[in-house]
Amino acid sequence: MSTPVVEFQQVGLTYPGPPAVSALRPADLRIGGGEYVAVVGPSGSGKSTFLNIMGLLDSPTTGRYLLDGKDTAVLDDADRAALRGQRLGFVFQGFHLLPHRDATENVALALLYTGSDRRRRRARAREVLGRVGLSHRLDTAPSRLSGGERQRVAIARAMVNHPSLLLCDEPTGNLDSATARSILDLLDELNAGGTTVVLITHSADVADRARRTVTIRDGVLTETAGVTS
Ligand code: ADP
Repeated sequence: MSTPVVEFQQVGLTYPGPPAVSALRPADLRIGGGEYVAVVGPSGSGKSTFLNIMGLLDSPTTGRYLLDGKDTAVLDDADRAALRGQRLGFVFQGFHLLPHRDATENVALALLYTGSDRRRRRARAREVLGRVGLSHRLDTAPSRLSGGERQRVAIARAMVNHPSLLLCDEPTGNLDSATARSILDLLDELNAGGTTVVLITHSADVADRARRTVTIRDGVLTETAGVTS
């Protein structure tokens, strides 16, 4: 079997407090390349903690986390940041775009660390913006884009480095239902193209798009559905 993208070996996180909070109880989990996993659970159950660990934004206090087979515990902050930039893409509910840069620049900035020149970065950004259906909005600033278009820019930014893993935290939480559907269709399309997707959601409809669902309740991670395809 090929190396999983994500492998948790008894990964857990306890905030020291006092009082100590076991935000994520030690759990095993493997996510293979090309999977689409929804993460559901009530507010305060540990979903963000789980995503932050997976996204190398937080370190587990127990266990081992291997990303693309690489043990992340041995990395220093600079290595973690580099790995985050190269292997991970993030999409948040609130888009987090730079307001004074146009769509192309918002996406191209994610390529800064690659060392390629500006012209190439912008060309690659335009290509990915085309892929998410925004060829006609390349020079537009976020304030002049609709919510759905902003999220498409954010998805293009997340995809521009060919990430191993696309981490989405309530990506449709700020969108009306028709726009939300179109964003979920885009995520389906990216997943069909081979991108591994992990998506946090409160919505059962959104979770239905995924082939696996992981539920977190009081920090306890359980798999509620097997792989169905
Ligand atoms: P969710 O994303 O499902 O709402 P979180 O992962 O944010 O849940 O939180 C899980 C638990 O950890 C909650 O009880 C929360 O209060 C606690 N928690 C989150 N961040 C911290 C922190 N920095 N320090 C202490 N406790 C925290």
